[in-house]
Amino acid sequence: MPELPEVEVTRLSFADRIAGAQIQAVRMGKPLRWPLGLAPEALVQRRIRAVRRRGKYLLLDMDEGLLLLHLGMSGSLTFARELPPAGVHDHFEMQTTRGTLRLNDPRRFGAVVYASSEQDPVAVKLLGKLGVEPLGDAFDLRLFQQGLKARSGPIKQVLLAGEVVVGVGNIYASEALFLAGIRPTTKASRISGPRVARLHAAVRDVLARAVAKGGSTLRDFSNAHGESGYFQLEAMVYGREGGPCHVCATTIKAIRQGQRSTFFCPVCQKP
Ligand SMILES: [Zn+2]
Repeated sequence: MPELPEVEVTRLSFADRIAGAQIQAVRMGKPLRWPLGLAPEALVQRRIRAVRRRGKYLLLDMDEGLLLLHLGMSGSLTFARELPPAGVHDHFEMQTTRGTLRLNDPRRFGAVVYASSEQDPVAVKLLGKLGVEPLGDAFDLRLFQQGLKARSGPIKQVLLAGEVVVGVGNIYASEALFLAGIRPTTKASRISGPRVARLHAAVRDVLARAVAKGGSTLRDFSNAHGESGYFQLEAMVYGREGGPCHVCATTIKAIRQGQRSTFFCPVCQKP
């Protein structure tokens, strides 16, 4: 599943190139998770102003309205002057004066949704509950502390829920909790101030490094599909069940939390 760094790198891969382009044609394939919300032809002749990101949504601002694009479980975007003919998993394609933007999504949990503005109910429904951006200035330590204090669930699941801070998915939550020395099952409200500060720094660090790593391989990434789009960060715990901890050599454990795998070092990460 594409996580925040992958979505941010996807944005970086085409935002500058598509800005200012005029839409010439839109083609839809099989239904995605949610309907587009207007006739595809209605987008023709609109101009794309900018591509922003909010959580794991890409926001394509147009001179009138915006498109909210989500990669779902298996989606990937390509933007190029010339593309091979659309394949069976290409379910959205937008031809512009600068090139064609194509969404490939074999599992079709992704979506492209039109909203007249960010105040449009459809946009509010998708974006309204999202927490602050972890890579922006709004990700303030005090707010993070308050958010965790108010939540009694296990810290890993509080991070994944995206209401305190948005876009920290399964891989990066596991890694950040390792860096901060916090057991994933610890109740969010019971984590002490200094440990919350360490976690705050770790979340930023692990996401920023992933974006940087992805940015350095941008050329490959723009052609990547699904899982291959992951940036191979040197994982400390994620996916390393049974292996030795890189810090203390204790065997890394795996548990299930809310149907997701969680990996941790029982010695380095305290409850
Ligand atoms: Zn360890």
